[in-house]
Amino acid sequence: MRLPRWVRRAWDKFGPLRGLKVVDGDSLPLNMPRRDLVLAREGDEDWCVGMRCPCGCGRTIELLLIREAKPKWDLMLDASGRPSLKPSVWLQGGCRSHFWLRRGRVEWCD
Ligand SMILES: [Zn+2]
Repeated sequence: MRLPRWVRRAWDKFGPLRGLKVVDGDSLPLNMPRRDLVLAREGDEDWCVGMRCPCGCGRTIELLLIREAKPKWDLMLDASGRPSLKPSVWLQGGCRSHFWLRRGRVEWCD
């Protein structure tokens, strides 16, 4: 079911915060949670973080965290474990979503 865009955006703004699940390994699971982010961690190395695209298009966004990656993202957790990402996420092609994730909230750029 696809919700209208304004509903999804209001939910991003006022709904529950997004959490972070950690999986063991270097890749994201096939079955991604609906809202939460997933961090793929092997040993003490964080490989990538991912989430379902918050626009509702269904695609899985995968962002590399390893130092050698280009582009690479930084994942930060606040005291209550809410994830932030730096820089913003800007998808080329498809839905072209552009947003920041700050403390478990998607903040749209358009
Ligand atoms: Zn999308």
